Amino acid sequence: FFISFEGIDGAGKSTHIESFKKLMQERYPDREVVMTREPGGTPLGEQLRNLLLDAPMNLETEALLMFAARREHIAQIIEPALLAGKIVISDRFTDASFAYQGGGRGLSLAKLNDLEQWVQGRADGKLLQPNLTILFDLPGEIAQARRSKVRTPDKFEKLDLVFFEKVRQEYLRRALEDPSRFHKVDATQTPEAIWNGLQALEINW
Ligand code: C5P
Repeated sequence: FFISFEGIDGAGKSTHIESFKKLMQERYPDREVVMTREPGGTPLGEQLRNLLLDAPMNLETEALLMFAARREHIAQIIEPALLAGKIVISDRFTDASFAYQGGGRGLSLAKLNDLEQWVQGRADGKLLQPNLTILFDLPGEIAQARRSKVRTPDKFEKLDLVFFEKVRQEYLRRALEDPSRFHKVDATQTPEAIWNGLQALEINW
């Protein structure tokens, strides 16, 4: 079973993902839980992550490197873990590429769809997708206020409010398109309320 966490920077997903992992371990003691992240998740992927977060580059190069890291991530970590019956939790997956490179930076969704087909295509002709995507949704301005309190921004986080609002809208559009996969969390709530909601979440295995 494959679960991804998504949302704009500052929406609070990192705060909850570790607790969610523990919750899964407690509930399903006979299953191993694998925590991973994108961009990253493998030694090569982490190197690509460093490049992606620091080096200025062409938008298409950025998308290709994101998907290259993802291909490695799927082949080395995600698919083997799923085949072994493990629960995989990833901090971001392909929805982030659609939201950031597509919605935020304007890369054509058709190109992203092509890359998705290529990188997530499986032998049975279907796409590898998370079974559940937990989307932390927050208006751009609240997220920006939170971000500026907690950390020095990376290359992407320096981008402006309009950018984050576009990222958010693309996440929301994808959630509307695929409501059975997405669980939307209203991230304006207190951390306690968010956590109560996550604990009450019914997962259809
Ligand atoms: O989730 P995390 O904060 O670790 O992501 C690192 C950075 O990479 C974030 O600033 C996020 O906005 C950016 N990112 C991106 N495109 C992706 C995935 C992440 O711009 N597809």
